Amino acid sequence: MKITDIKVKSFLTYADRWDQGHALPKPDTELMQTVLTIETDEGVSGHFIGGGTHGDQEGLNNVDQNLILGRIRDLLIGQNPLDREMIWQWLLVAWFPENVASVIDNALWDLAGRMTNLPVYKLIGGARDKVKAYASTYPNIGKPKVYAEHALACKKEGYIAYKIHPHYFWNPETGKPTPGRPSNIKADIETIHLVREAVGPEYVLMYDPWGTYMSVEETIKVGRELEKLNYYWYEHPMPEYRVESYVRLCRELTIPILSPEIIAGGVFSRADWMLRGASDMTRIDVIRGGITGARKTAIVAEAYGIRCELHMAGWGNLQVMGATSEDTSEYYEKGLLAPGVDYDKQHPYLKNNCDKIDTEGYVHLPQKPGMGYEIEWDYINDNIIDPTTFVRKTI
Ligand SMILES: [Mg+2]
Repeated sequence: MKITDIKVKSFLTYADRWDQGHALPKPDTELMQTVLTIETDEGVSGHFIGGGTHGDQEGLNNVDQNLILGRIRDLLIGQNPLDREMIWQWLLVAWFPENVASVIDNALWDLAGRMTNLPVYKLIGGARDKVKAYASTYPNIGKPKVYAEHALACKKEGYIAYKIHPHYFWNPETGKPTPGRPSNIKADIETIHLVREAVGPEYVLMYDPWGTYMSVEETIKVGRELEKLNYYWYEHPMPEYRVESYVRLCRELTIPILSPEIIAGGVFSRADWMLRGASDMTRIDVIRGGITGARKTAIVAEAYGIRCELHMAGWGNLQVMGATSEDTSEYYEKGLLAPGVDYDKQHPYLKNNCDKIDTEGYVHLPQKPGMGYEIEWDYINDNIIDPTTFVRKTI
């Protein structure tokens, strides 16, 4: 079997989003989405939807698309699409942006799944058919009491865990956007307390200020409150370019530090952090090395007895979790959620949805072949746009 072509379709879609700078819901926001397709001489194809900064939720920009349709297409035409590891190594040594290399790897997994009529996680080797999910908030969903009300609403809806992205690049007192300095730790600490009071002492809570605390002292001050209130993990609290600050933090605090989440280097940088004692739990997703790289990271973590928690929602991350034991990857990040944002609304370019929770708070692994997508090609073909101008094309 040989790869015969690689194509990318850009199309207009819409979804509910949250305006983080003004703390307002943005229903039915227009977005550019992409579907990458790898075709073969045996008729089977593989697809990956999305691949921008927010994974499944955002398409590839035109610079990324040009890399794929130029150099990568030239490199891969004529190759066997089942040689995923060889292709992963080629794209690594060629220093392609991580998300670009990842969408190729993910589409190759989808192709192998469609070829064998198996979901990707069964092809890798299934570990479980459902995963625990937590409700993950947008940042700046409102003043501290709004978080408490939202957490309680999520608990009543059936979520068994809740993660706060607190106040950053927005001042909860004035309701205005800020450059991120100073941070809002007074409101953040109030939020941590009010949410714990709202959901009760046993409920699983996590906390992620997304790298916006600048000093170890500030980070420890908030961390001590999280420890008092029995939060489960403290995620990516400081910028991730300063590894030593994380070594100090892990030494000081008993609450597990979950990082790095967004630095470059995929499995390689995460392996270094684990070895240096810079993180108690590690973090990866399928646009930072693809399904292949995410599985490698989970395996390294497992070898050290360290958890590897998947970053962001989506089809590919779910497939990795389905192939990894709960001892290593415990919780699926569902979101981002905010009051007035309907996350579960069906995407018009798909017939199915990957992450509705059941009555016990679990998400069930998609059972369709490959990634699990049932693609609405008619919608996509009716909404094709030029990725540089967003102008609708007629095809
Ligand atoms: Mg995070």
